[in-house]
Amino acid sequence: MTFDDLGLSPELLRAIGDVGYTKPTPIQSQAIPIVLMGRDVLGCAQTGTGKTASFTLPMIEILAAGRAKARMPRSLILEPTRELAAQVAENFELYGKYHKLNMALLIGGESFTDQEKRLDRGVDVLIATPGRLIDLFERGKILMSDVRTLVIDEADRMLDMGFIPDVERIVSLLPKIRQTLFFSATMPPEIRRLADAFLMNPKEITVAPPASPATTVTQGIAIVDEREKREALRRLIGTEQIKNALIFCNRKRDVDILHKSLTRHGFSAAALHGDLSQSMRTETLEKFKRDEITLLVASDVAARGLDIIALSHVFNFDVPIHAEDYVHRIGRTGRAGREGRAFTLATPSDGKFVEAINALIGKEIPRIEIEGMDSLEFEEGDDRRRRGRRSSQKKAATSEKPKRRSEKAAKDDALPAAPAEDAATAAPEKRTRRQPARDKATSDRSPKQEAKQQEAKQQEAKQRETKQRDRRGRRTEDDNDTPVLAFGDHMPNFLRRSVRAYLPERKAADARKTA
Ligand code: AMP
Repeated sequence: MTFDDLGLSPELLRAIGDVGYTKPTPIQSQAIPIVLMGRDVLGCAQTGTGKTASFTLPMIEILAAGRAKARMPRSLILEPTRELAAQVAENFELYGKYHKLNMALLIGGESFTDQEKRLDRGVDVLIATPGRLIDLFERGKILMSDVRTLVIDEADRMLDMGFIPDVERIVSLLPKIRQTLFFSATMPPEIRRLADAFLMNPKEITVAPPASPATTVTQGIAIVDEREKREALRRLIGTEQIKNALIFCNRKRDVDILHKSLTRHGFSAAALHGDLSQSMRTETLEKFKRDEITLLVASDVAARGLDIIALSHVFNFDVPIHAEDYVHRIGRTGRAGREGRAFTLATPSDGKFVEAINALIGKEIPRIEIEGMDSLEFEEGDDRRRRGRRSSQKKAATSEKPKRRSEKAAKDDALPAAPAEDAATAAPEKRTRRQPARDKATSDRSPKQEAKQQEAKQQEAKQRETKQRDRRGRRTEDDNDTPVLAFGDHMPNFLRRSVRAYLPERKAADARKTA
């Protein structure tokens, strides 16, 4: 099937040709004719399948006839994040270049005044995040009574982010007679219920997620010590010809740590995660797209669906926990037939995650060695405490070791400690292990004697506890309770005692006495 078979106008076909697409993706070939017929669609598809064009292309076609009135948008697209909303807007500009449609992007973190001005001019397509749309509605700046097409995109993400009540409220403000296009990567029961409530006799279209990365992406995985990951990454970057690269971390905190570390080592790097302000995120992305920044360290959420043309590299600083995220991440490179390179840094304990990825993509990610660094093996079984076996005994440069250790310690703060490494839980465990030995020593006594002994012990423990409370006025760490972190409202006695000032005259007199 080609785009010509889908019922799109010559202007749209020209715009598609300009972008360089040669044939529609499965979701496009199935959804476009249905949307053009005016039917509701329930699409089970995720980013990477070409779903954005599957609704933007027919919407442009539908909206081409007619004009918008001030503050009364004719169509509405709801997106869970500002980045996704901005990306859909870019798609409209790209595909709608031979049409004269007005578009407005209503996202948080940007000026209300500019957005209100746009609404006043009349918009054909309104792309919004739920919170900002409700804000503007409540200020009386927007009327929903003319919306004839509604798109709810990434519904499962809206659910994850707690936006469903906002979405329900928005839908209740729209005309009952409308066309609704509803997309979700997954269909849990809550999403099904919403779809049933919002859609009328929809055509259900399910497309498989892109389970295999593009064949144009060269992949590789290195197994290194957790403490040497930053160095491994720097060495890898040094051996690759990088134009621009996305570096994924599993946690926001690690995005910041890695970004700072790369900058300190002289790399052109920036960070992108959900805790940054919208203006900061937009500015960073723009700089990255303009090639003013080479390395963008990002979290999955912030980078989900990011569409950067001609990205040369993707690095997984952490192995993703969900195998599908691996395909999403490395799918940022090698787009539209271009060459791309994607490398993953794993630690010996990541074996089961890598296995799941291999199973999903149907092949093993090839192993790579990083020059001058120990190459390790995955641990067998689930025991996270076991260290990996070294497959080569090349000694890594040691000059940076102490620094790396302290960085590791900082990182460990962010990690949930493995049970056995947690001192607070290890201590009681030790005590219970020693207990049987003591019990054995007393087992020769008669039951009566033992009961007496037990009673005496309990009494002793009680007294000890009362003494400690009396002495300190509160429980202490010795009581095996929460550690005392500060004095709080308790004034210790040594601070109540008056202290004579040690004046210079007294100091001189003391010195004379001792001379
Ligand atoms: P999406 O799933 O909408 O986020 O799209 C994923 C990527 O596929 C984007 O980079 C689009 O530019 C690209 N894309 C969409 N449709 C096509 C197509 N028919 N042929 C090639 N690439 C496409």
